Formats: sequence, structure tokens, C-alpha cells
Amino acid sequence: MIGRDRIQYKTPDQVSAMRRAGLVVGETLALLRESAEVGMTTRDLDAIAEKRIRGAGAVPSFMGYHGFPATLCVSVNDEIVHGIPGDRVLTDGDVVSIDCGAIVAGWHGDAAVSLVVGHPDPADEQLVETTEEAMWHGIAALLAGRRLHEVGSAVEDLVESRAQDGGALGPSGYGIVEEYVGHGIGTEMHQHPQVPNYRVRDKGVRVRAGLVVAIEPMLTRGSAATRVLDDDWTVVSTDSSRAAHFEHTVAVAEDGLWVLTALDGGREQLARLGAPYAGRD
Ligand code: MG
Ligand code: MG
Repeated sequence: MIGRDRIQYKTPDQVSAMRRAGLVVGETLALLRESAEVGMTTRDLDAIAEKRIRGAGAVPSFMGYHGFPATLCVSVNDEIVHGIPGDRVLTDGDVVSIDCGAIVAGWHGDAAVSLVVGHPDPADEQLVETTEEAMWHGIAALLAGRRLHEVGSAVEDLVESRAQDGGALGPSGYGIVEEYVGHGIGTEMHQHPQVPNYRVRDKGVRVRAGLVVAIEPMLTRGSAATRVLDDDWTVVSTDSSRAAHFEHTVAVAEDGLWVLTALDGGREQLARLGAPYAGRD
């Protein structure tokens, strides 16, 4: 169990330091949500984010990561994750996934939102809403004393329940992407352990206080299969189905959870789902 040994458990003071990075990310994503509209380029969103992050005295963490050239990942429609901001102009009804990371005093925050600009196709709205709800169900399953992979089971249970509701989706339901997973986070963006966003046979490590992970389900309206474009970054669905992605950085305490990248620390959503809130703001 080498992976277990390498988990960087955080002290309460370190978690509070991570909250500062988390808030910069959360506030930047809130600004981007307000700002995103038809006619903007994905590079425009990137410029807004970089200004906001640097203005808060933080550093964008994606920039230069394995050579990534921007502050945000912006992934549109059939792009799932790791889209590079550029000249692409957002058009009516586009599904836009925005992933944002920042570093404050050496500590990382990482979160993502998806939204539809202009007039949404109801099936896209449902995709976005289901992905966000799946994330929250995954977060609410991350409790001290339980096993880490209950997160993915909770995500998958929620997605299956929505697919069975039918709606505009038809019998195929949603694809849950398996090739990209959540992760530990702290003094680096990506740490042990990995956090599958889907049900796996292995139960995973026992969750305990000081564990901080990013939980980040990605759903498509079709197949879960992915491929990487020639830019070596952008991940798309192989069947061109539209995708959504939500992510939060979450800290485990003995007595509950603190969603470090949520502006309210996750208080409202955790209460709704019956999970204990243990923020220290
Ligand atoms: Mg991310
Ligand atoms: Mg992440």
C-alpha cells in the first residue's frame, strides 16, 4: 500500500491555509459565471481569471503545468477537460466547462464549473445540473471513518438514478468518464490518492481527518470514451456528445467536511444532503 503511505495529511492550520487558495479559486469561478456570454472568446475568460487571481496575490497553477499555456482550462461542448483557451468564440447554447487552479503561500486550490451560454438545450441544462448534483453526492460521501471509493459509488448512484428518470436523454443515459479522476491536493495540485468518480471494486483507503481531495465528476450525454486532440491537451468524447465537469477541493475533519473552493465552505449543500459541515471561517 505504497499509495496510502504517500498521502499528505494536513493539519488544521494547513487546511486553513488551503482555504485561502480555495477562496481565490471559488471567487474567480463566480466572476467567470457572471461574465461568460455569447460572443466572448475562451481567451477572454482566461484573461478575466488571470487578472482576478493575480489581483488576489495568488498564482495561477495551471500555467506552465507540464507546459500548459493558460490560466484556465476551458472545454466547450464535446470537449470534456483540459481545453486550451484561445480564439474560439462562444456561441448560443454552448456548454462551457471552466477549470481553475490557484496557489496561495504554496497551497493549491482546484475547482471547476460548467454552464450554458445563451439559450440552453434542456438536455444540456439537465447534463450540467446532474453533473453538479453528482459532485455534491460524491462530496457528501467523503466522511472520516468511511472508505474513499464510496465517493465514486455515490456519484454513480446519483447519475444512474437520473438516467432512469429518462427525461430527454433516452435509454443511454449519461457516460461517466473514467480516464480522468479526482486527486489528493495540497502543496502540489495532484497528489495521492486518486479519487475515482465512478464505482470501483476496491474500497480505497480509509478516510481520516487531514485528507484533502479534489472531487471532479465528468459526464457526457453519450459515451464515456475519450480521446485527446492533436494539441496534446484537449480531451473530447469519442462520439462527440456534450460533456460537463464540476469540481471542488474538499477537506476532511474529524467532525465533518469543509469544501475549500465553495464560497460558503459547502455549508448549504452539505446540510441539504445531511452531511456534517466542519468549516472554520
Ligand atoms: Mg481542476
Ligand atoms: Mg483537479
